[in-house]
Amino acid sequence: MTATIYSFETGVYRPPSEGGSASLLVRFSRNCPWNRCTFCAMYKTKKFEPRPLHEIKADINAMAALANDLKSESFRLNHGGRITREAILSLLERAPGLEYHQGMDMLIQWLAAGGKTAFIQDGNSMIMKPQDLIEALIHLKNTFPSICRITTYARVRTIAQRSLENLKAIRAAGLDRVHLGLETGDSNLLKQIKKGVDAQDQIQGGQKAMAAGFQVSEYWMPGLGGKKMSNQHADGTARVLNAVNPHYIRSRPFRLIPGTPIQNQVQKGEIVLSTSREMLLELKRMISALEVTSKVCFDHMGNHWRTPKGDLVFTHDYEGYQFPDEKQTVLERIDMGLS
Ligand code: SF4
Repeated sequence: MTATIYSFETGVYRPPSEGGSASLLVRFSRNCPWNRCTFCAMYKTKKFEPRPLHEIKADINAMAALANDLKSESFRLNHGGRITREAILSLLERAPGLEYHQGMDMLIQWLAAGGKTAFIQDGNSMIMKPQDLIEALIHLKNTFPSICRITTYARVRTIAQRSLENLKAIRAAGLDRVHLGLETGDSNLLKQIKKGVDAQDQIQGGQKAMAAGFQVSEYWMPGLGGKKMSNQHADGTARVLNAVNPHYIRSRPFRLIPGTPIQNQVQKGEIVLSTSREMLLELKRMISALEVTSKVCFDHMGNHWRTPKGDLVFTHDYEGYQFPDEKQTVLERIDMGLS
């Protein structure tokens, strides 16, 4: 047996919550069509490439072939379809090239976790022609009926460009959640980081995603504006989030990544980075101004602050804190961190 029948692509990036649920990573396009944000290194050296529908479908079919053959090996060994070590080794013996397959581990983890969730890669799946995206989603769901949640990264600008009718059709085809990079709700800071949108665009795109029926997960970056823009960053971010009231608000504290344009600005002294304590104060200011019914999450190791007792200020749980009920708890935890 040759391993080429299992040929499919897997991209590098997915949100931590998708790792937590061991999502199937299905690559609908390569890299990021915008690729200009000054803080981001994810796809910087790579060019955006759309993938034709037939190629995406072929990837899904190859994943299905691998999943089915793993299960068949398991049944052959009387392991009842469970993905055991023996079943994996047995298939590796029959298709030796498989041990170098970049997506094999991911697929095994996904099967072992029950095959329930999928994440569509890469940086902005909404850039696809709506009809192609719909067809690819339907093919994915039909091929793997066990999948009960599909999510993806998307840009608010692209969402704003799509008609509500198209967005609803994409939602109906099976896309449940969009992960949006808000970063900040302050227009000046959005311009500085070359996000390609202003605060109003962020509000309109976020609201449109909500109106289409998606679960909306917004990511913001404490510390992104450094010392000088800290207050406006916190205030603007709360303003946008209050207007959108997304399902999830996720904190991704800024960290300087070598080779990014923002690193030059910091080296030249154009941006003076906030200290860890200043970032926590900024977080307090933003959280205090939040009037939402969202889940507020700190599900990334960058939220590293600790209380005097040594425990983490925030849980890194993917479901975070339910606002407004737990807003006071979060503010009290921040004060413990500041003390
Ligand atoms: S849109 Fe997202 S992936 Fe693309 S450059 Fe900006 S932060 Fe990076």
